[in-house]
Order: sequence, then structure tokens, then C-alpha cells
Amino acid sequence: MKKLNETIMQFFEWYLKPEDNLWNKTINEASYLSSIGITSVWLPPAYKGASGINDTGYGVYDMYDLGEFDQKGCIRTKYGTKKEYLEAIKVLKANNISVLADIVFNHRLGADEFENVIAVEDDPVNRNNSISEPRTIKAWTKFNFDGRGSTYSNFKWNWTHFHGVDWDDITQKKSVYKFYGKDWDSDVDRENGNYDYLMGADVDFNNVNVVNELISWAKWYVETSHIDGFRMDAVKHIRASFLKTFLSTLRDDLEQKLFTIGEYWSGDIETLKNFIKETKSSMSLFDVPLHYNLFNASNSNGHYDMRRIFDGTLVKSKPELAITFVDNHDTEPGQSLESWVQDWFKPLAYALILLRNIGTPCVFYGDYYGIPEKKFKGKKDLLEKLILARKRFAYGNEVDYFDDPNIIGWTREGSFDHPNSGMAVIMSDGPDGCKAMNVGKKLAGSLLYDYLGNVNEPVYVDDEGNGIFYTRARSVSVWVLREDEMK
Ligand code: CA
Ligand code: CA
Repeated sequence: MKKLNETIMQFFEWYLKPEDNLWNKTINEASYLSSIGITSVWLPPAYKGASGINDTGYGVYDMYDLGEFDQKGCIRTKYGTKKEYLEAIKVLKANNISVLADIVFNHRLGADEFENVIAVEDDPVNRNNSISEPRTIKAWTKFNFDGRGSTYSNFKWNWTHFHGVDWDDITQKKSVYKFYGKDWDSDVDRENGNYDYLMGADVDFNNVNVVNELISWAKWYVETSHIDGFRMDAVKHIRASFLKTFLSTLRDDLEQKLFTIGEYWSGDIETLKNFIKETKSSMSLFDVPLHYNLFNASNSNGHYDMRRIFDGTLVKSKPELAITFVDNHDTEPGQSLESWVQDWFKPLAYALILLRNIGTPCVFYGDYYGIPEKKFKGKKDLLEKLILARKRFAYGNEVDYFDDPNIIGWTREGSFDHPNSGMAVIMSDGPDGCKAMNVGKKLAGSLLYDYLGNVNEPVYVDDEGNGIFYTRARSVSVWVLREDEMK
């Protein structure tokens, strides 16, 4: 994953419908995405979820059912059939796009039968506190996979493979039930005292049969689908030592790099750094702190101090492991982590992740193609320009001008490998204005124009590389060589 100017696209949003036929759309879009500079695509969980055709895939039921077996009321998944999925991956790869598969290990949902299990109830807001004596509950923990039988694997899940559940079918009560004799893992997030439990039947990574089954599933999956890497769901709820072992075993046995991004949802940089240490830097992480900075800036009506937009972020302290993003399927309106970056700020936010020399940006499908459910129009024209600007111009030494609470900018001096490269970026969360910046020797003596078309007049750069660059209010401009001046 260390090619220059990698750009990932998260190729789904929460409210997609089965009739959107995502795998077929992926096939149709692959060559276009490649042409604008997308180098990796993150696809949603591809296996059968508890809600069948309406499941996003995060309600994972059977990880061996990639839209092949009649289970949960359908053969295909929300996104299509196994055949279409494999074809989508093949076409992406034929277009030089790497494929990241979303894998959900933390929990299982939609068990086929319940079992009587002895459990204690833990306080949902402090899971270190038990609030009941051990008693028998009816837990949905038995997974038989009757529609698949033993095809690909004869492993059947039962309560011994789980840590706990959140539903007792006897009392019909939702709570946090920990199976008697088991303890939540300690190497997980500390929220709610201990955040091992998230939802559904919580997978027990201390059970050696579980660990072996997940490793053998992952080998089957990589060999079946030819994906290049993973996006790992909910890693703050999974013991760090398992994640480290899982990835190193898989990488060694398959002799593949398996680039992996973890979803550790925390805005606290120290928490992320601690997880990186515990997992020995074996995966990159989404830069959640940066997402929250962008979100806050977008809600500050100009009062955000733009000089501090990268403060406390992963891209600032661990750039090589930072996956920068603006929004995702969980931050969408109505979703569990709703923190939607406001519309007016999206161009600034995307310039901040796409045109810098550090961090690997991930563009969100919902921002690109829109979210019809929420009546959001996509910003395809703008994002296409910014992704192309990254591919064509965002090279070379970077000089920052983070010297004003409203108007910040930076320049890229360009590189000789990319003949017309180099740029000046300037943005404002407040009034319009300008800034003197130096774009370096390569662009000296040339006429630059705003690639985004927000400012019409060109800017002349003198023989030393100095120019005065403009931005409109609450806007961003990206100054590059005019087409007629290109070599
Ligand atoms: Ca867990
Ligand atoms: Ca400001």
C-alpha cells in the first residue's frame, strides 16, 4: 500500500437498497474510478446477515455465505450474489484497484436456536459490576446454518464460542449477560468500564476453536475472493492480542501483505496510540480524531481556529498508519455514530485529506454519489476534481501557511516525475481573503488558475515562486497550472 498518492473509496453507504445492486454498480464504475485516481476500494461485508436481503452485512450470520445459499430468506445479499461479488473484485483488480474486504468478527446475529445458559447480568454502563446472581437464561447462540450445511466448513457455533448476549428470552429483557465462568477480555476499550460487549452474541476469542475457525475462514475467504486486504470492524471491542495474532498468522501462512485498516472508534489520540502499540502497528487506523475536528469546524460557523485543524489527530502523530476520512456509513444522519460534517465544509474537509503529503485518504460513497434516503445530493463533480487534483498535482515538498484562525493554506512544490505538478491550496472557514505563498521553483514564472473554479481570475507566480492566492468566504481554491501552460 505504499504507492504514491493512494486514494481509497468506501464504496457503500448505510441506506443502499437491494435494488441498487452494489456489486454490479462496482463492476460498472471500476474503470472510471481507476481513471480519476482511486487506487483501493473498501467494499461492505459481503456475507449473509441476520436481516437477509436488507442487512448491511454488519449483522453477520454466516461468513461462508457470500450470497450463495438460501438462508435468512434469500440467496443473494443486499449487494448481490456471490458470483457478482467475485466478478466485481476481478474487475476492480483488472483496473489496478486493490480491494479491501470488511470483516466483522466481534459478534454474530440471527442464531437459529436458543440455548439455556447460566449467566450473570452486568451493569450496561459499568460492565465490571455484576448486578445479578448467576441464573439460567435463554440465549440465542446456536448457529446451525441449515441452508449451507457443511459446505466449506462444518463448524457450528454454540454458546461456548461466545462471551455473552444482550437478550434473555425467558424474561424478555435486554441487558448485558455474561456467561457464567467467563470474563470480558481486558485488552479492549475501557468505555462502559469494559467495552468487550457491543451487540448480538459476543465472540469469545479465548476459545482456541474459535480462533482456529476464524483463521481458517479468513484463508478460505482470501483464496476464494482474491481480496487484497481488510477493513476490520469494531476492533475496540475485540481483544488486541487476538487481532495481532490473527493478522500475523494469516500474513505468514498466505505470504501476502494483507493491508488492514482497523475501525477503532475513538476521538482520543492516546487511546489510538495505545492500540497501535498493543497490536504492534499491524494495522492502520481510521483517523477518528480528525473526523471530529472536521465535524466541529463545520459546526463552528467560522469560529473554529483553522490553524488547529490537525491538532490531536492520527495523521499528525502517526501519519504512516493514518487513514483520513471525512464521513462514513456510521456517521451518516440517523446512524449510531452520527456526526455528519456539514455540507458547506465538505469541500474544505476533502481538500484537507486529499491534497496533503501525509495520510491515506478515504472518500465516502455517500459524499460522492449522494444519499437518496436523506435527500443528500452527491458531490461527484467536486470530489472528482479533488481526487484528480491529488493524482495530477499533489506532489513534492509541502509548505504550510497555517497562520490565521480563518484562512489557512499550503503549497506543494511539485516533482519532476509529474511534469505539471505543484499547487497552492487556500481555504477559509470565515471571510474571503488572500495569502502570499511560495510554490517553489518549478512553477515560478507561470500563470495558475483555480482548478475548482471558485475564483475566476488567474494568479501570476513570479520568478521566485511567490504569488498571492485567493479564496472566497467559506470556500477553498486549488491553484494549479492552467491547461494552456502545461507541457
Ligand atoms: Ca467483543
Ligand atoms: Ca475560523
